[in-house]
Amino acid sequence: MSRPLYVTRPLLPDLGDVNAMLGEIWRTQFVTNGGPFHEKLESALKETLGVPTVELFNNGTIALLVALKLFGLPPGSEVITTPLTFAATAHSIHWNGLRPVFADVSPDTLTIDPASVEKAITPMTSAILGVHVYGTVCDVDALQNIADRHGLRLIYDAAHAFGTTINGQPVAVFGDASVFSFHATKLFTTLEGGAIATPRSADHEMIYFLRNFGIKSEEEVVSIGINGKMNEVQAAIGLLNLPKAPVEREARTRLRAKLDAALSGLPGIGLQPVQSGVGQSEQYYPVVINADIFGRSRDAIYTALKERGILSRKYFHPICTDFAPYRGFPIVSTRNTPYVSEVKSQVLCLPFFSGVKDEDVEDIRAVFHGT
Ligand SMILES: *Cc1c(COP(=O)(O)O)cnc(C)c1O
Repeated sequence: MSRPLYVTRPLLPDLGDVNAMLGEIWRTQFVTNGGPFHEKLESALKETLGVPTVELFNNGTIALLVALKLFGLPPGSEVITTPLTFAATAHSIHWNGLRPVFADVSPDTLTIDPASVEKAITPMTSAILGVHVYGTVCDVDALQNIADRHGLRLIYDAAHAFGTTINGQPVAVFGDASVFSFHATKLFTTLEGGAIATPRSADHEMIYFLRNFGIKSEEEVVSIGINGKMNEVQAAIGLLNLPKAPVEREARTRLRAKLDAALSGLPGIGLQPVQSGVGQSEQYYPVVINADIFGRSRDAIYTALKERGILSRKYFHPICTDFAPYRGFPIVSTRNTPYVSEVKSQVLCLPFFSGVKDEDVEDIRAVFHGT
């Protein structure tokens, strides 16, 4: 039993394999700017993510910034998103000179609620930025339907949805673009890294320019751009981790079954929904603790786990509208009180990675059962 037990642990390749690839990078001195490992990882990810355009980035946040830039959304226009997400989602909208508009989440999935999205639409709305939060997928059909009817772009923050499928289709075929993060906390990692994936091969060129200062040739800058390039060391880690990711995912699927067995049937404890037809990414294991029914609060459970050296995380509490830049922004909801305002005090992500042992599950069980 290793304590503290963190909520996750980075997937790391064998150090000998890393050293061999570093040797290759040192030999060729091709360290960044679309080197051979970068090109290899990019094409491998086109296979894995099942879409014609995959562009690698130095991190997921820069990829989000560029994905929003890609569609030429009118300056100052509104992008509807969820407040139950990592800060980067809202920041990427604001940083682009667009206005984040927060819509409530659905009680069953904790993803953005389509009816609240519809209610949030104004003549200034230009896009919807959905988040497949914890690996639970958005209602992609309802959101696409809304986007089509109102002429909006539909972009997904798919940072938690690497490898997700919906009715056999890769998650990145939905919407106009999906953004992945390969940060160390994500199941598939390049230490820091990310990607934009889109279902159209034509997007490749524009993303390519936006990622690298708009440079087309030695003497041509054809658009604005940023430095979003992934370097060769990151790409090498990615190539080594790519075959390891499905193995890690399978281990987490087995862990999920054990945690489900330990926690299911407890009154007031809600587990992540099983979505029919969805191949789970296995990014997080969130539980929703309703103190009125369960008798103990999320924070009480968090503390009790911590006393045993089990470090759960209150993702994503506080929510975006609690952060200084977005304080006072309303949360548009079809309910009187937005559901997200309640659930933010109830959600807890438990340790979820292949290194979590049966004894750890037993300890978690004991904390929840109060034994
Ligand atoms: C991890 C994450 C990102 C991007 O993070 P980076 O650390 O920049 O790769 C964006 N959105 C969500 C929901 C995330 O969890």
